Amino acid sequence: MKYISCIHLEHGITFFSNSVQICCISSHPGGGNIVQINNYKGELINWDELFKSRRVIRDNLKKGIIPDKCSECYYLKEQDWNDDDYIDEVLIGHFTHCNCNCIYCYTEKDKNFFNNNKTYNILPVIKDMIEKGVLSKKSTITFGGGEPTILNEFEELVNLLLDYDVYNIRIHSDGIKYSPAIEKGLKLGKITLITSVDSSSKKLYEKIKHVPCFDKVWKNLANYAKAKNGLIRTKYVLIPGINDDINEVKNWMKKTYESGIRHIAFDIEDNWFKENRNNIPQYIYVIFDFVYKSYPQYKIESCELYERASNLKIDREIKHNSKC
Ligand code: SF4
Ligand code: SF4
Repeated sequence: MKYISCIHLEHGITFFSNSVQICCISSHPGGGNIVQINNYKGELINWDELFKSRRVIRDNLKKGIIPDKCSECYYLKEQDWNDDDYIDEVLIGHFTHCNCNCIYCYTEKDKNFFNNNKTYNILPVIKDMIEKGVLSKKSTITFGGGEPTILNEFEELVNLLLDYDVYNIRIHSDGIKYSPAIEKGLKLGKITLITSVDSSSKKLYEKIKHVPCFDKVWKNLANYAKAKNGLIRTKYVLIPGINDDINEVKNWMKKTYESGIRHIAFDIEDNWFKENRNNIPQYIYVIFDFVYKSYPQYKIESCELYERASNLKIDREIKHNSKC
């Protein structure tokens, strides 16, 4: 049946440090964060109950009733949806510790707390999903956190998912710790690795990341890039006032290509975007346009826009269309 919904409302699940949610999308007017299980600490999930609650939401969607928290979310679209009970969009984000110190990270509020926040094990939950046939082989599993490669169960977890032959594993890693499982998944063409470098120079990298790991990260990325089948993106999170220099952006694309990487991702710092969404300075559009339109000149094959950058693009198209 054709109705307005989204991939997460239909078949998504997100694991956070103390809750299970439908998705992790939050910068639209509705605010997202639809909680399914509160005070969650890695217990095995009663899938019948979870799918029952999902069917209530789906029945409303079929009547045109969209959850308030999804209001104006760009993920919503009208199409035919498969209303069987299964999961094929998973975000693993239950960990908050990291070996990097990005100035824009939510963990900057209390680094000590987030680095010592006890993390539950997700491996038994994923095994349970596989054993019970809940996890589709067509799944996209995304790691976001925190830094996943420093999780004790990371290598085993990635190997389990590779053995299960899921469609794609998207890993957001800062690139500081080299992971044999990532290398294996890239060789198999099953992993997309996304590393935010946010700069092209050591000086700016260290100003943003507060760790002396610039050379190590690019060396690791170049090594990963030797595994030709997988997809690697270097990402640039534009932080107005910090790395909004067009030359830095150009050199980032050059350095990406020189490292053997052919894909990039672009985003805008979350807090700044939320505060300035209705009053974006012209020079930000100039940088956005430069990245989004000029990347092929740097022999980069694709540019993925992350949440804030996608919203910026959509907002501008809406404004433009309303003037026509
Ligand atoms: S519509 Fe947006 S906020 Fe709602 S579940 Fe989908 S992605 Fe999340
Ligand atoms: S790499 Fe990611 S999790 Fe780590 S400090 Fe930077 S933004 Fe935060």
